Amino acid sequence: MIWIINNCALLVLGTIAAIMGISFYMRTKDSTGHIRYYMLFYGIFSAIWCLSYAVLGVTTNLALCPYIRIPGLFAIYAFLVNEVFLVTRMVGLPKRPTAIIRVVSCILSVITLYFYSNTNLDIFVRGDGYTRWYANPSMGFNRSVHAIYEIFIFLLLFTMALIWYKKTRLKRSRKFLSILIVANFSILFFTIPDSIFPSIGLPGIATSGIGGAVCTIVMWYGAIVFNSFDASFGNITDRLFDFIEAGVIVFDTNRQITIMNAYAKASLDAKGNQTLQDLFDIQESDIDVMFEKGLNEIYSTRLWDKSLKKAYSVKLNSVKDTYGEPYCILMVFTDVTEEIELADKYAIASQAKSQFLANMSHEIRTPINGIMGMNTILLDELDEGNLEEVRHNAMNIGSASQTLLSIINDILDISKIESGKMELISVKYEIFSVLNDCYNMTLTRAEKKGLNFVMDIDSNLPSVLYGDEVHFRQIINNFLSNAVKYTDRGTITLRIREHSRTEDRINLMVEVSDTGIGIKEKDIDKLFKNFTRLDEKKNRNIEGTGLGLSLTEKLVRLMGGEINVTSEYGKGSVFSVILPQKIVNDAPIGNFAEKYAAFANQKKGNELQIDIPNANILVVDDVDMNIQVVKGMLKRTHATIDTALSGAECLEMIRTKHYDLILLDHMMPEMDGIETFEHMQENKDHKNVDTPVIILTANAVVGAKEMYLEKGFTDYLSKPIRRNELIAMLRKYLPSNLQNQASATTTKAPTDQPQNTAPAAATNKKTSLAERFPLLDTKCGMLYCMDDEEFYVEMLETYLEGNKRDLIAETYETENWKDYETYVHALKSTSLNIGATTLSEHAKALEFAAKAKDYDYIRANHKDVLDEYDELLTQIKNAL
Ligand code: ADP
Repeated sequence: MIWIINNCALLVLGTIAAIMGISFYMRTKDSTGHIRYYMLFYGIFSAIWCLSYAVLGVTTNLALCPYIRIPGLFAIYAFLVNEVFLVTRMVGLPKRPTAIIRVVSCILSVITLYFYSNTNLDIFVRGDGYTRWYANPSMGFNRSVHAIYEIFIFLLLFTMALIWYKKTRLKRSRKFLSILIVANFSILFFTIPDSIFPSIGLPGIATSGIGGAVCTIVMWYGAIVFNSFDASFGNITDRLFDFIEAGVIVFDTNRQITIMNAYAKASLDAKGNQTLQDLFDIQESDIDVMFEKGLNEIYSTRLWDKSLKKAYSVKLNSVKDTYGEPYCILMVFTDVTEEIELADKYAIASQAKSQFLANMSHEIRTPINGIMGMNTILLDELDEGNLEEVRHNAMNIGSASQTLLSIINDILDISKIESGKMELISVKYEIFSVLNDCYNMTLTRAEKKGLNFVMDIDSNLPSVLYGDEVHFRQIINNFLSNAVKYTDRGTITLRIREHSRTEDRINLMVEVSDTGIGIKEKDIDKLFKNFTRLDEKKNRNIEGTGLGLSLTEKLVRLMGGEINVTSEYGKGSVFSVILPQKIVNDAPIGNFAEKYAAFANQKKGNELQIDIPNANILVVDDVDMNIQVVKGMLKRTHATIDTALSGAECLEMIRTKHYDLILLDHMMPEMDGIETFEHMQENKDHKNVDTPVIILTANAVVGAKEMYLEKGFTDYLSKPIRRNELIAMLRKYLPSNLQNQASATTTKAPTDQPQNTAPAAATNKKTSLAERFPLLDTKCGMLYCMDDEEFYVEMLETYLEGNKRDLIAETYETENWKDYETYVHALKSTSLNIGATTLSEHAKALEFAAKAKDYDYIRANHKDVLDEYDELLTQIKNAL
């Protein structure tokens, strides 16, 4: 009975051990470690061991028994060597001791096999239908070799195991080691009936194989349960499945879901046993396509989940059996919602940018075309002496330049804000000055369109505030300019009130309302987006870039304010902001209309009254035209103006002459204004060490001024230069002993309605001039004098004083045609400058005749022209 049980145990356990060894090997085939080989050998050797001893037990031919046992013995020693190899590897000894132990155990195994496989080692007997054996007394030595070998191997194994146990901190390794020790004890235990019994006179029974198989099974269990060995896809697949940031769904060939990883469940909120249609927003026909294509190739597509909130990039492919037939279909998907949203955003942004570039190029080209075209016409008209046209075109050039400048400023400001470089620069300022400028800027435009412009300013507002004045001004002007643009009839109102106030702070409520085209409710949200224009088709003819409001909104936010819009489509809009500012002086600002009128008069009186005949000014600019502009603006100051066309020329000039003021352009080729200035500072071998230097620059962005002042410039003037600003600089920086100031002229008393004040004053002025000088085109004359009446009068005086009447008459009498030509040429241009356009034309005809030696023409017309000249001189004399 016992032998039947023993043999069954050997066969069953041997088979199990073999299967486990092989399956472990197969399962971890992708692993780069060696453990799987040890497990495979464990399985195979214990199987051979068991089989050999099982056959031994049933062999009836006793002579064959020693030979049948040889493969078993070989398997035992190979098993033990395999175990030594495994343990030495796991214990992680240095290479050399590991190699020595392995080699010694191999040699010992071979020696022991040699002695222990001796066919005379045991005497086999048969009894009770089972073969067993007794020790052959003459083979004591051989047995001793085997005993020593076993003692050595097991001591070695246990020692190694102990070292490993001590070394490792991993719980799973310790657990596995305990199992290993138990397993080896099982080998020892099952070896007792096998090798000890025959030595003590008892019949040997073939049980040791059971120990080997048990050891293999225990090792397998330890390896699997405690993951004690190398990582492999086999033993990490489950973890991997739930770990990856991708959904994995396995379908059977009926398209039913059989496996889903954690990600798939979480993303699709799926509860198993569902179909693709339960999970994704997909049609039956598309599913057919997906599966058909996915059977033979990797099929990629994009699907949305049922709620249409998430988008997935999906890949499908079948897993095929050894016959090449699919047994399941694998679907892997990743969430690409964010990427799609980003791409959409990018597409929208890039569409908006393209739209913007198209708009921009149109908006920038329009004024440039205007400027270039008008300039060509202007030059033609100038040649032909068509002064009314010249004036008209010059004004158009001015307004086109203004448009261009404001577009460019908007772009620069927006990009500054967007790159986070816009800084608020707070200064002390008078609120009246801001309102005055806003009023001036808007009034002309409003009047041109026949609109009323009302300034409704709370007279109790504090007069001096502290905040970013430049941007405050810009915000109001943007609203006002839009109000004018988008209103065809009715009224524009700028209303400023106190929204709330503490002792030293005020929240200003600025409101610009119009009776214009209004904005649809659905469009209000779009208003503040960069580059967005509404009703583009309808507003095609209205110039605009879609930058103004977006810039305004950004500025208001930067200044800690709030912006608001209410509008009724077709009726009008109200744009309002609440802006916090500090109060510096809370004396009330007073009635705006009165103040405006008073200021306008005072300004007019002040601005033209600088006379600096003893001042020496140096203007440095590489563009001659710019120099001419500055010279023209300073003509009336009677200052001596020297010019330099480069930084180098400037440095040369300052070595020999002292200047009272230097106007230095920034952007110049070779040596720019800053470099020139630095040279002046470093090398003091010149006469202008203390001369104020004012930088002229087109760099009008916020913060530029501070940069120049930091560099040491005395002040900064932005281009295009305004005459008043330039004069203000002269007043500020020229020594007072150089400045002669005449008293202010009286101006008209202000009226209550500011919108009527300025135009009325201007009209009066021009009417009176025209009345005083009926022979002159005073409008044209004023144009040459920058619309400055006093300057004009001075020019008339100069004209009178420097008249060439007698010289013309004399050269005519003496027929000195050469000089005659020179004098009538001078008459032509000086007359044009004061608006004597007809006389200028006639003088021009005489000049041409002199040039062409057409003396008959001169003789026929000279007298008439001279009479005309006389009449004009008399009229000017009388009027002055
Ligand atoms: P734009 O340069 O086109 O005027 P804005 O950013 O200033 O750019 O304004 C954006 C759009 O808002 C305009 O194109 C216009 O459609 C609309 N809008 C702005 N102000 C008004 C207003 N006062 N009345 C009606 N529509 C306005």
